[in-house]
Amino acid sequence: MSLASLLERAASGGRLSFDEGVRLYREADIHELGAAAHARRMQVYPDDVVTYVIDTTINYTNVCNVHCTFCAFFRPEKHGEGYTMSHDEVLSRVKFAADQGATQIMIQGGVNPELRLPWFEELFARVRREYPDVDLHSLSVSEVVGLSTVEQLPVREILVRLKDAGMKSLPGAGAEILVERVRKRISARKVKPHEWIGVMREAQKLGMPTTATMMFGSIETDEERVEHLDVIRNLQDEMGGFTAFIPWYYVPWKTPLRGKEASGLEYLRVLAVSRLYLDNVPHLQASWLTPGLKIGQVALYYGCDDMGGTILEEQVVHDAGSTNVATRKDIEEIIIKAGFKPVIRDTYWNLRDDVALATA
Ligand code: SF4
Repeated sequence: MSLASLLERAASGGRLSFDEGVRLYREADIHELGAAAHARRMQVYPDDVVTYVIDTTINYTNVCNVHCTFCAFFRPEKHGEGYTMSHDEVLSRVKFAADQGATQIMIQGGVNPELRLPWFEELFARVRREYPDVDLHSLSVSEVVGLSTVEQLPVREILVRLKDAGMKSLPGAGAEILVERVRKRISARKVKPHEWIGVMREAQKLGMPTTATMMFGSIETDEERVEHLDVIRNLQDEMGGFTAFIPWYYVPWKTPLRGKEASGLEYLRVLAVSRLYLDNVPHLQASWLTPGLKIGQVALYYGCDDMGGTILEEQVVHDAGSTNVATRKDIEEIIIKAGFKPVIRDTYWNLRDDVALATA
């Protein structure tokens, strides 16, 4: 099949095989790839809306026993620069975000074995009690597995207790590239690909919405990027619980692994192939945190229908060397200037007409 026919089929929702995905990734002209991804996005969401969520990321501890080589954020146990916030500190950050209209709070950190399950249950219950209007889209597969290990309890029980305490959905963090060869090099002590899938499956069985991420640009090959997409597509066929796919690229500047940063075109290529390959994941999220606002804006023509979050604070990516920051007004303006209408959403993609736009 010619590349043009392949793009045409993918743009109208035809499923790509693994080999076809690799071929499009490697050989398709970037503009034609983007046009196909945008056509598919407009077919699925024919209006001119681009959503975003007002959110914050609270990195409650940097102590971590996983030691990923791509991470500049963590400190090993007993390290002088390790920190863990008190519940009051976390709550004051939740207040700061809620006062600015946040509807989503991401509480995420290292895998700190000193923090036991009741610590999280009490924290989440307090957030739910004091800020009932914000959704806890929090922790990661690694933290859930870490809790399962220290508590000697099955993952399912950990998730049930976190959910009962108020954790409404599980972010896709920690996926990186779900291929064993890559993980052995960049995160050898982290959960294996099948464990990441297993935790997501359990969360989805419990009715928790989840997202899927991909951190690309470290050491993986083109095939391994598509293999990652394939893993996500297979689980989505089985369970259907991913609301969105969020690719972002590795920031190498201050990490032990180092290496080079992906280019803007490489980011756009990954987005476009993601939109076409993941024919069963509803939303594709653009990011401004690593590529910056201008590339984030262009991403809206490479298959994305969502601009992600305001991320009122964040430590992990900034510790790796990213210097990007954005206000709500900045995010809305790049959406408007790209020819779309910004609409605020919550964690479940409910449109929040009750929260005023910053540019209103
Ligand atoms: S990426 Fe997460 S799990 Fe890995 S070292 Fe950093 S904080 Fe720990």
